[in-house]
Amino acid sequence: MATIKAIEGRSVHQIQSGQVIVDLNSVVKELVENSLDAGATSIEVRFKNQGLDSVEVQDNGKGIAPEDFDTVALKHHTSKLSSYEDLTSLDTFGFRGEALSSLCALSKFQVLTARLDDGAVGKKLDFEVSGKLKATSVASAQKGTTVTVDELFYNLPVRRKELEKNIKREYGKVLSLLYAYACISVGVRFAVSNQMPKGKKVVAFSTKSNATTKENIVNVFGSKTLIALIKLDLHLDIEPSRGPNTQGARNWATQATDRSMEVRIEGHISKPVFGEGRQAPDRQMFFVNSRPCQLPQVSKAINEVYKSFNVSQSPFIFANLVMDTNAYDVNVSPDKRSIMLHDQAALLESLKTALTAMFEQTDHTVPQSTL
Ligand code: ADP
Ligand code: MG
Repeated sequence: MATIKAIEGRSVHQIQSGQVIVDLNSVVKELVENSLDAGATSIEVRFKNQGLDSVEVQDNGKGIAPEDFDTVALKHHTSKLSSYEDLTSLDTFGFRGEALSSLCALSKFQVLTARLDDGAVGKKLDFEVSGKLKATSVASAQKGTTVTVDELFYNLPVRRKELEKNIKREYGKVLSLLYAYACISVGVRFAVSNQMPKGKKVVAFSTKSNATTKENIVNVFGSKTLIALIKLDLHLDIEPSRGPNTQGARNWATQATDRSMEVRIEGHISKPVFGEGRQAPDRQMFFVNSRPCQLPQVSKAINEVYKSFNVSQSPFIFANLVMDTNAYDVNVSPDKRSIMLHDQAALLESLKTALTAMFEQTDHTVPQSTL
């Protein structure tokens, strides 16, 4: 008798969903990115019990068209990408069409949406665990979309227990992630709040829609932060390396291997002056073409250079790498957390040289107060 059988569809859906939505952070990341992709200029994130009971993201973006209600939460259904080739010229955060369907599988999930031409009439959408549309009903709504995720992981007891145990830390991580989106998203107002059971609603932070990244940083971290910051603006011209690094280069990047690559690193960083950086909170945010992401190697390189000027402090870093879209790959893992940079070794070398040169020109006089 054959022992190899296909896993039943419902179970496959749950297995895959757990890789897209791995924690509270992924919920918030996916929903905020959807709002940004929808062209929102205002995004409100409301937590209940630090996200354990509920996470709600409300935007004033373009809303979801009634013709799309049936497919909006189906796995691998997206309005952003239609073929694999499109990945190299992607200008949206989303492209896998997995977030909403995964949330249907892992939480009590609901969408409220209204397009401008619907007037004040919105539609509330309810879904099956599979992501299939279950019911729609009329509800009053402002233009845009509100997505509610209640009781995350209610049907995965181990993950739910972990979440409950670590909720304080998880919520802290989520706030850090939101700081990054709020600071980089020029033209978008963010308002983040939390309500504890029986407690009052507390505003965690808010930014304005007509602010620069610098003003966003002030709104998020306080005005003292700026005293310690200088502008980061590095122009790197990276020659293609012929070493072992290019051996493993994948097809998507072969074009980029033959010519030099230009990378600009824009943002803000602490002055490497002893005593001044102290006023900057220990925050480090990295972006590739304004997409918040983890860049551990870039982080290490910048920190190393900073430490060579100031051993006793670690810097505030807000660094956006502006580069060709075919010089990196965002499709490394289902949760899109990591980014693979093409020719990373050469980029890091060039970055260290340029940052060292920039710091050497910075005024290193030790402030009187610290003498
Ligand atoms: P992806 O973002 O990869 O397309 P998602 O599952 O996150 O996949 O979303 C599926 C689709 O639902 C999106 O392609 C988009 O068309 C629509 N959508 C999701 N969230 C919003 C929103 N906040 N506003 C408007 N449309 C949305
Ligand atoms: Mg998405």
